[in-house]
Amino acid sequence: MIRDVDISLSPEEAASASSILAIASRKAGGSADDFTIIRKSIDARRQDVKIQMRIRLYYGEKKLGPESVSFKDAGKGKAIVVGAGPAGLFASLTLLEHGIAPILIERGKSVRERLRDTALLSQKGILDPESNYAFGEGGAGAFSDGKLYTRSSKRGDAGKVLRLFVQFGADEEILYDSHPHIGSDKLPGIIENMRCEIIRHGGDVRFSTLVAGLVRKGDETIGVRLSSGEEIIAPVILATGHSAKDVYYSLQSSGYSLEAKSTAVGVRVEHKQSLIDAMQYHRKDRGLYLPPASYSFVTQVNGRGVYSFCMCPGGSIVPASTEEGHLVVNGMSPKSRRGEFANSGIVVELRCSDLPEKDPFAMLRYIEDIERRCWNPGFAAPAERLVDFIEDKAPSVIRTTYHPGVVPTRLDDVLPPIISSSLRDGLKAFGRMSRSRFITDDALLIAPETRTSSPIRILRDEGMKQGRGLYPAGEGAGYAGGIVSAAIDGTEAALSLMGDYYGQ
Ligand SMILES: Cc1cc2nc3c(=O)[nH]c(=O)nc-3n(C[C@H](O)[C@H](O)[C@H](O)COP(=O)(O)OP(=O)(O)OC[C@H]3O[C@@H](n4cnc5c(N)ncnc54)[C@H](O)[C@@H]3O)c2cc1C
Repeated sequence: MIRDVDISLSPEEAASASSILAIASRKAGGSADDFTIIRKSIDARRQDVKIQMRIRLYYGEKKLGPESVSFKDAGKGKAIVVGAGPAGLFASLTLLEHGIAPILIERGKSVRERLRDTALLSQKGILDPESNYAFGEGGAGAFSDGKLYTRSSKRGDAGKVLRLFVQFGADEEILYDSHPHIGSDKLPGIIENMRCEIIRHGGDVRFSTLVAGLVRKGDETIGVRLSSGEEIIAPVILATGHSAKDVYYSLQSSGYSLEAKSTAVGVRVEHKQSLIDAMQYHRKDRGLYLPPASYSFVTQVNGRGVYSFCMCPGGSIVPASTEEGHLVVNGMSPKSRRGEFANSGIVVELRCSDLPEKDPFAMLRYIEDIERRCWNPGFAAPAERLVDFIEDKAPSVIRTTYHPGVVPTRLDDVLPPIISSSLRDGLKAFGRMSRSRFITDDALLIAPETRTSSPIRILRDEGMKQGRGLYPAGEGAGYAGGIVSAAIDGTEAALSLMGDYYGQ
């Protein structure tokens, strides 16, 4: 017999398998032999923090593990996938589930080599424009925090994406945690496992290979042209992310349809993790059994959304630039999230109607201008204490995880007024929501957070394609944001391509 039961536990009880089994059995009746966790969340609304769980109890039955996906040896045809981020990797895996060989082309290096390049950038301020926090195997997702929530579950199968992450090495807890998280230290191994599976079944993976343009025959896209001049002929899934500006320019010059897209721009805020724990758990110390706390804030300032974005408990702030002379920051955290600091993007909604120009590149130019104004040699970032920014005082800085260093700067001088004024009012609102705990002398703002989503959309029709043969997918296409939604989008693009070309 199998029975599901909901229980509410203290953090200490929730950390012990024998306590979970005993408490769930007592509530359901009878003495169960084993259990699995179906759902887990933290209820921190009151002083007495509880862990809520849905437990599946097994009475005299073998417990089932998560379903796994099997891949076929390729032999039924081929497709080109440009970009080995989440969208490109999941597109490639989906093709192989159906026996179609992906030719996965990635401008950057393998994820292990990227580790060296990102360390050089963080520690010495030396950027490799083809191998950094955005470009290379795993894409922007590789050194991300690996938070895996998405709002796009209406379309596609987010559960399958999580199961595939587990199949390739992620902890099973991502299947039931209400805030699943893999960690920047675990992601590279998982990505390598995916690549090995793709190659083992006959896929071709090419690193340090730049797609310079698409090959067209009339209205049909029939393949890609590499920077070496080589042409590869097959239908194309274009999953190049939102930082590959050269791809947008090349598409425009070849007559493809693009449009400007709304996005959100702001800063990273960094607090002591202990302060966030105290704010969220209503106690001085989170103790041994609660995880480092996270937060989520959202408000409206004069009809414009201001919200926290991609919060990284126990994490660090990193330079996510892809070019010299442009500064972009982002955040990541390891699996344990045991670092001393917590960071989060605090961003302001930016609409196309805010910009005077209306062409497809208007939003891209706008954010590039901010990135240029924020740049300092060696990728040092403009920064200002949160209280100085709010009170409009002379800027001072404090200790931070951002390795290339910070330059005390009035953020009003580097951010456009529409962003800085909404940011100031939004931060004040978050202060009120947190009974002033968010606004503290120990919080630092670091600018700019500009690549929250793509500033351009590559238009596509119902079948997820533009004309015959081109399937723009993932965050760079402008229809997805975040690891899971990019992975779902890549999966759906592969299904659409197989329907059109291979009758699957
Ligand atoms: C530091 C950081 C932390 C993040 N944290 C999170 C998080 O915790 N959770 C979350 O959901 N999201 C997070 N994100 C965002 C997430 O990583 C992206 O939404 C996601 O990676 C988008 O996937 P994608 O496959 O569409 O594009 P990308 O991941 O950007 O991949 C595109 C790939 O295409 C390659 N490429 C580009 N142009 C070419 C070309 N011409 N030829 C060949 N290859 C090319 C690039 O090198 C890149 O590898 C984070 C991002 C960063 C930078």
